[in-house]
Amino acid sequence: MSIPLVDLKAQYRGLRAEMEPVLAEVLDQAHFIMGPNVKAFEQEFAAYCGARYAIGTGSGTDALIFAIQALGISAGDEVITTPHTFIASAECISLAGATPVFADIDPHTYAIDPDLIEAAITERTRAIVVVHLYGNPAPMDKIMSIAKKHGLAVVEDCAQAHGARFHGQRVGAIGDVACFSFYPGKNLGAYGDGGAVVTNRSDLADSVYRMRNHGRAPGAKYEHSEVGYCSRLDELQAAVLRVKLRHLDAWNQARRAHTQQYAELLQGADVVLPLETPGGEAVYHLFVVRVPNRDEVMSKLKAEGIECGVHYPLPLHLQPAYRGLGIGETTFPITEAACHEVLSLPMFPELTGDQISEVARILRRSIAR
Ligand SMILES: *Cc1c(COP(=O)(O)O)cnc(C)c1O
Repeated sequence: MSIPLVDLKAQYRGLRAEMEPVLAEVLDQAHFIMGPNVKAFEQEFAAYCGARYAIGTGSGTDALIFAIQALGISAGDEVITTPHTFIASAECISLAGATPVFADIDPHTYAIDPDLIEAAITERTRAIVVVHLYGNPAPMDKIMSIAKKHGLAVVEDCAQAHGARFHGQRVGAIGDVACFSFYPGKNLGAYGDGGAVVTNRSDLADSVYRMRNHGRAPGAKYEHSEVGYCSRLDELQAAVLRVKLRHLDAWNQARRAHTQQYAELLQGADVVLPLETPGGEAVYHLFVVRVPNRDEVMSKLKAEGIECGVHYPLPLHLQPAYRGLGIGETTFPITEAACHEVLSLPMFPELTGDQISEVARILRRSIAR
């Protein structure tokens, strides 16, 4: 049996009958940029998140770039984020000319540690980019109260957490502004690149509407009120996302059920299982366990046809791209330890009970020395 980390073909087999007529209609209408599906998806996704605005963008990374710039962050400013994430969480800060300042994570939930955020605040700090990593919500109550106390903006990186909740509220509607990715493998994925900025603040929404479309305000054609970018969610992707959004909650429930089954099957094994943030409802974009001899375990799994991943093997402060920050090894020991031990096991809604049993059985055998 060969089991992939993510199986987008299985998802499409289940969706084909629903998807094909929708794609055909977009092709017939031939309104490919800023068409009716983009508008409808933006409304539906904002409602889904419980926020006032959702603005489609060309990628999740662009959504982050626009969010940071809409907040007016620029050279000389500092923004706090986690070193244990995908590089886009920090790229958006650097591209605005500001400096990413990292704070180490909680070893159990992998979220940024609120106590370490406070220690990293200086008079230059403007915002916190919070990442709901692996689909597990960060402790937003503590983070929001720190932000309020110090007058900082909060950007939620929800690229892995579509539909996750914290104390019943969807992520994406808790901070000042949130960014989603619709990269194909994400919990809500397009058939290409795509992203969205979600916010309740009309000032930020207006700014992002202009930024994504050459500095044009909605409705403007020949007038550019500022210099902007060209990064719009396209009509075909919006049509795909509208179909998929209707399935998102069921898919997330399936991911939670798979997590439960993995946890039962791995009980008592020498494996650290993921821990949900207290008050959070995770959507398990990734199912990440920890094993001491990770690379060896991973190659044994691979030899048996089980595809795994590592999210992430090299923390941001040790990336060549961030050598210029001059942050050395051992600065963020919790992140660095995690990088050596984390292992992402197959996780996608269409995963079967038999596949999960097979992964668990082979994992148990691979860690027994
Ligand atoms: C995927 C991802 C992004 C970037 O999204 P793209 O759509 O690929 O640009 C940002 N942050 C995190 C945590 C991600 O996982």
